Amino acid sequence: MLHIQENISLKPYNSFGIDVKANYFAEIFSEADLAALYHNEITQAQKNLIIGGGSNVLFTQDYNGLVIKISIKGIESRADGKNILVTAGAGEIWNDFVSYCVENNYAGVENLSLIPGTVGASPIQNIGAYGVELKDVFESCSAFEIKTGKIKTFNFNDCHFGYRESVFKGELKGQYIITSVTFHLASEPQINTSYGAIEAELQNRGVETPTIADVSSAVAHIRVSKLPDPSTIGNAGSFFKNPVIEKYEFAAIVAKHPDVVHYPTADDKIKLAAGWLIEQCGYKGKIEGNTGTWKNQALVLVNHGGATGTEVYNFSAQIIDSVKSTFGVTLEREVNIL
Ligand SMILES: Cc1cc2nc3c(=O)[nH]c(=O)nc-3n(C[C@H](O)[C@H](O)[C@H](O)COP(=O)(O)OP(=O)(O)OC[C@H]3O[C@@H](n4cnc5c(N)ncnc54)[C@H](O)[C@@H]3O)c2cc1C
Repeated sequence: MLHIQENISLKPYNSFGIDVKANYFAEIFSEADLAALYHNEITQAQKNLIIGGGSNVLFTQDYNGLVIKISIKGIESRADGKNILVTAGAGEIWNDFVSYCVENNYAGVENLSLIPGTVGASPIQNIGAYGVELKDVFESCSAFEIKTGKIKTFNFNDCHFGYRESVFKGELKGQYIITSVTFHLASEPQINTSYGAIEAELQNRGVETPTIADVSSAVAHIRVSKLPDPSTIGNAGSFFKNPVIEKYEFAAIVAKHPDVVHYPTADDKIKLAAGWLIEQCGYKGKIEGNTGTWKNQALVLVNHGGATGTEVYNFSAQIIDSVKSTFGVTLEREVNIL
């Protein structure tokens, strides 16, 4: 049954551990709860914010409205030719879903192991890691339109996926609650170990013919060694996107900084490593008040304890200014600022 609480601290609901309050808070476990939510006058009278695990948000102030936390569970799979179609409830923990796929030998999401958050948030910014993006395995999703109470299916083409982008972060922002996501996974895996340190980690382990379980375990190991665990030190992963620039802009940068870390993109542009740019500006492991950058990865901003969202935000603005004046590149925040 739908229960709307009042004046709730959001500290347990965001991985930065920022202590702000919401006027109203409701947790949704089923489509029946969604229907009740739609008919509730608070939903209609207040502004709404949807959250899953709160691992890609930075609260800079109290939320003056209704926070809707999505906890709809359930995983089902069915064969579809050479593919397996797996549908997971939006409130499933992303890594639990990945573990389910790895255990059943459904291939495609093993490189996305250990990304925090929920299944329902995965299409929002088209999550990605180690050479794989959500869009590579996305089949469709069901979403509840807050204004009309109707459920709509979004297919791949409807979602306009881009680098850490989708229609849900753009023109439809805040309008739909994703209730479930369907993925197409392969029963005959194509292992993808070419990105980052996966190959080296597998070699270290003496694994010559990796299974998807080996890849998942290697990715998890690398992530734990590089990234702070939000349960002990508040953070939201990469705070900024890796900037994508034109080749002529890159030529000007590489002339001054020959060792600039960069990757070609499929559309003939150049992606720069934001973490490297920030590190060059002297920010790796920097502590400023209660915030700072992570000692092993300058791209991750952390809450050393008691930081306010404004403090973290102002620190991120300082980093943007510094990178702009050193490299002429404007960093864009990946984390949703609220
Ligand atoms: C340590 C760490 C490492 C990370 N590594 C990665 C990484 O490698 N790659 C990567 O892409 N991301 C990474 N992230 C970011 C984060 O894990 C992802 O963005 C994740 O998808 C967020 O899920 P969430 O459930 O916590 O979303 P939330 O933070 O709760 O919400 C994020 C956005 O999605 C919206 N939203 C959430 N659920 C729904 C829903 N059901 N329907 C509609 N809108 C919804 C929210 O309104 C918000 O705008 C990392 C974060 C941390 C803390």
